[in-house]
Amino acid sequence: MDESIQLSKTFPAHFILAQSNLYNLEHLADLSELPASGARLTILPMKIAGGSGAPVRVVAYLPSASFAVGPSSIRTLPVLLYLNHNLRAEMQGRSLCQHGPDISGIRPSFLAVNMWPLLLALLSCLAVESRRIVDLSHAYDNRTLTGPTLRQFNMTQQENFNGTYWMLDELHMATHSGTHLDAPCHFSRGRWCVADIPLESLMDVPAVVIDVNRGQDGVMLPEDLVKWEAKHGSIPKNSVILLRSGWAKKYPNRKEYYGSDDMKSMNHLRFPGFGIGAAQWLLNHTKIAGLGVDTPSVDPGIFLQTFPVHALLARFNLYNLEHLADLSELPASGARLTILPMKIAGGSGAPVRVVAYLPSASFAVGPSSILLFITMLVLGLTG
Ligand SMILES: [Zn+2]
Repeated sequence: MDESIQLSKTFPAHFILAQSNLYNLEHLADLSELPASGARLTILPMKIAGGSGAPVRVVAYLPSASFAVGPSSIRTLPVLLYLNHNLRAEMQGRSLCQHGPDISGIRPSFLAVNMWPLLLALLSCLAVESRRIVDLSHAYDNRTLTGPTLRQFNMTQQENFNGTYWMLDELHMATHSGTHLDAPCHFSRGRWCVADIPLESLMDVPAVVIDVNRGQDGVMLPEDLVKWEAKHGSIPKNSVILLRSGWAKKYPNRKEYYGSDDMKSMNHLRFPGFGIGAAQWLLNHTKIAGLGVDTPSVDPGIFLQTFPVHALLARFNLYNLEHLADLSELPASGARLTILPMKIAGGSGAPVRVVAYLPSASFAVGPSSILLFITMLVLGLTG
């Protein structure tokens, strides 16, 4: 037998890479837009506990040179202006700095310049946002919760111990089970289904986190949103409003999480959600991308006969994130979400992987701080 055929039959690449804990992305779509170097990937597979594979959403950020004014350039500008002014004054033998030593009389040179604003400037441009990532998705396994009346999640696996070892899994599930996304077409015909939702509404969107601790029939009220805005400013465009009730702790205990273990009807469900007043307030006052809950549904259990919040928001092409995992690490404001649902054409829902980037200030040396340092040196030497 031809040696290359023999090799391919034993999956040599799969085998060697798996030994080093490397994963493979297979059946990728059109890669023609990618440059040979410089693109960055975000790869979010469906979170299957014990799974040897998973549907995955892969997106690429293509590099593009552009000039933009951001927080760091705004922060840097006044420092640079001040520095320039101060350095020139120092060069002329006059100290404009009240707190620095009086260096008049000293021969102007870069080294003689009052150094404290220089150090401050350096520190301010070194302070960059470094981000920590938190997973807000429950893992799928055979305890995954699905709403009453739907087929339960079921994963089967086979393993081969003859020759090359391999594992394969097969899933049977309702799309609205575990941590999932409701597309607008779930409740409004003709609106976006899962694969239609633009990436701009899913990638790097602001998270607005609102605590609702009013027991199993608790609902979010318009007052909660007004209070949030009073404290944190206007709800940013493209935000996802997250209702945090702490219910994720009860998952996957069906009776505690749904308030009932009756799998045949929606009649006895009890868990928190959005009030219709809050949903209407959001439509009137904001331009958000969607809602999210750490409970089974954006409509609270007591309203799961008529689904008023689902029905209202779907008409405006807003999506829902349901069964989110523990939200306790999120700040009320400042986190960013990346939300990648399995790309199901025509699907009204899909398993979704949701991750949050938490903001945290830290110090790091990057290209911009090096650039600023050189600028200061030049200013100092030529001032
Ligand atoms: Zn759903």
